Amino acid sequence: MALIVHKYGGTSMGSTERIRNVARRVAKWARAGHRMVVVPSAMSGETNRLLALAKELQPALPDAASLREIDAIAATGEQVSVGLLALALHSEGMPAVSYAGWQVPVQTDSAFGKARIRHIEGARVRADLDAGKVVIVTGFQGLDEHGDVTTLGRGGSDTSAVAVAAALQADECLIYTDVDGVYTTDPRIVPEARRRHTISFEEMLEMASLGSKVLQIRSVEFAGKYRVPTRVLSSFTPWDIPLDEEARSGTLITFEEDEKMEQAVVSGIAFNRDEAKVTVLGVPDRPGIAYQILGPVAEANIDVDVIIQNVSHDGRTDFSFTVHRNDYARAMQTLREVVAPAIGAAEIVGDAKICKVSIVGIGMRSHVGVASKMFRTLSEEGINIQMISTSEIKTSVVIDEKYMELAVRALHKAFDLELDKAVGSV
Ligand code: ASP
Ligand code: MG
Repeated sequence: MALIVHKYGGTSMGSTERIRNVARRVAKWARAGHRMVVVPSAMSGETNRLLALAKELQPALPDAASLREIDAIAATGEQVSVGLLALALHSEGMPAVSYAGWQVPVQTDSAFGKARIRHIEGARVRADLDAGKVVIVTGFQGLDEHGDVTTLGRGGSDTSAVAVAAALQADECLIYTDVDGVYTTDPRIVPEARRRHTISFEEMLEMASLGSKVLQIRSVEFAGKYRVPTRVLSSFTPWDIPLDEEARSGTLITFEEDEKMEQAVVSGIAFNRDEAKVTVLGVPDRPGIAYQILGPVAEANIDVDVIIQNVSHDGRTDFSFTVHRNDYARAMQTLREVVAPAIGAAEIVGDAKICKVSIVGIGMRSHVGVASKMFRTLSEEGINIQMISTSEIKTSVVIDEKYMELAVRALHKAFDLELDKAVGSV
């Protein structure tokens, strides 16, 4: 008998009929003898609806007082769904009780809209489990030290579920979602893409930060920190498929590198179209220049991703970096108005039609020549690389957006990702 946490996304909770299916699936697990905790999201579209209502009445730049209210509003979506799911379980003849974040409580810091979980008190949940009940806890929301309701950021129910699983030392956290696992790349771009049976936590972390939107990145960080066995699987299978089959489906995030397993060097290709590149040309090459350029950008609250500085020529150099495409206009403006006059740079140019393509794999630690194979593959397709950045287990390149699909397909093939060994052990 195991303690299992299930998380259901908004689509799975999208109607009373779907909630009934969730209840039946959960009841199946409970009847098989498992102790069950369920963390559902708000019904699909509900968080958007609530935030849009708030926006109609909210000042342009919400202050702390308004942010507090927005969280109180947004958190109601999850409160409705836990109650509905409890009712659906009751009508399946299954004892169940629902809790909002503040009732557990799920303690967070006070960063409204992006709060971080600090502690989850497990006593009340455990007592209910001991009494044979299914316990349903809201995703996405918590309570800060002043007793105010907070939310964890969009997609935050993933993090709630993994955090609840960590606090209760659950045997596994199952994230039911509208994809059936983590793929070697997006199957909409590469039809040969394959579902991975396992993926290491570090690879998952890179994939999440590189733009694969399967899990909220904080949930992956949580899973890694507390070593919560976490599985991503489909909520679209019939609720009554055999439990064994369901328990083995999807993609399991693992923590040990299995030495014996034949490990693919590269295990996935991620890509991200949401970036833009800016370049400051003719920057005087002297100490402090990077800070003089990026300082004002950071002050404007713009995140910088890939950075590159060329070797200098006659005491001048070029300095490029990428930002989120939404921040592109502001970044250009900051550079033109604040940075250029201060450092006497010759020219500011930008390109919003770029994308970032990355290869990810823990096998890259122990293999040489992986990056060069990537570069050769791209050159064979005639794709020009504009920027490169690397970490221990990934290499990213910035290229022209119009070559993105070609690059992803070519790399998927070059690294044999359509083959069996790419997808991990079952
Ligand atoms: N309902 C919240 C959102 O839409 C949290 C979640 O679904 O994970 O972002
Ligand atoms: Mg989600």
